[in-house]
Amino acid sequence: MNPRLTLLTVNVFLSCLFGTTASAQDKLPLRIYFLDATRGAMTLIVTPLGESVLIDTGDSAAVHVERILLACEDANVVEIDHLVTTHFASEHIGGIRALSTRIPIRRFYDKGSRGADASASLLSAYDNVTLSKQVVVGAGDEIALAQDRTLYHLRLTCLASDRQIEGFEGDINAPVEDFTMMPGDDSEKGSSLVFLLTYGSFSFFTGGDITWNLEHHLVHPENRVGQVDLYAVSNHGLDVSNNPLLLQSIEPTVCVASNGESLGIMPSVFSDLLALPSLETLFQLHYNLQFGDSGNTDSIYIANRQGETGHWVKASAYPEKEIFEIELSRPGAILTYPIMPRPGVVPPPSPPPGGRAR
Ligand SMILES: [Zn+2]
Repeated sequence: MNPRLTLLTVNVFLSCLFGTTASAQDKLPLRIYFLDATRGAMTLIVTPLGESVLIDTGDSAAVHVERILLACEDANVVEIDHLVTTHFASEHIGGIRALSTRIPIRRFYDKGSRGADASASLLSAYDNVTLSKQVVVGAGDEIALAQDRTLYHLRLTCLASDRQIEGFEGDINAPVEDFTMMPGDDSEKGSSLVFLLTYGSFSFFTGGDITWNLEHHLVHPENRVGQVDLYAVSNHGLDVSNNPLLLQSIEPTVCVASNGESLGIMPSVFSDLLALPSLETLFQLHYNLQFGDSGNTDSIYIANRQGETGHWVKASAYPEKEIFEIELSRPGAILTYPIMPRPGVVPPPSPPPGGRAR
């Protein structure tokens, strides 16, 4: 019997199923909000020290800015410390101008290049907002996050940028023996920034809208990602992305899809995700109206059921407890999962009796 599955099963069913554990925590968790961007993506990360990273701003619909601000309020965030644009597509950058008028944004990050399919008016708006505060992120770069030596180390690392993968020099579109590769993808979305966020042993992979061939080289012949606890389903669950080789290599415990009512999860991706031995739960932001049971997880794991909008999926990681939780903003469930051990993780020093660690 797979000991990992046994551990997961025991933890999920005994300690967590629709229970609550958060009230007993004495340290703030790392929080990740997957927000309803209708057909785009908006992910707010808030560290235990209150530092914020927003990845993408959805399209220009006013309601998306309100949803970002609501999540900021939930997490006591009063400014965005780091705003990351994975790529220049309307459903990922459209909200940036309106957002910048509502909350201070300290710094902006992107991949530098701009594809031919990026909208000129959106690029102009982006440039007007970002001015001199824009930083180009390359493969292997880190976005520096504030640390506290009484907490586990936080690290936000860019694994790929503009189709460049850290440590890989070849042509990502070249044929690979014994593997199915797709035609070369020169779309803007395929050049997305890819990040791995770690907090102690907890790890979260988010790759924007990257596609099949790049995904292959992220994990083969060398797995440059490692095993992750939480996977943001790439490209809204479309089947030009979510290469099964990547999914099987990173072994996610929980997957969250920023899909839409008519955008993902496509049936082949859905079946590939559910077939993962590591998977405990697949969450979706929306019920997909196209695919019925072949593209939708159980309704209790869908943030916005048919006709609903605005609900988020929130992950909270407690590495000191070796657990992470998933909660939907609709009333109901908190589910808890064990964090898989990662080699080389150094725990923070224990505070001396009666005082703080020095
Ligand atoms: Zn997208």
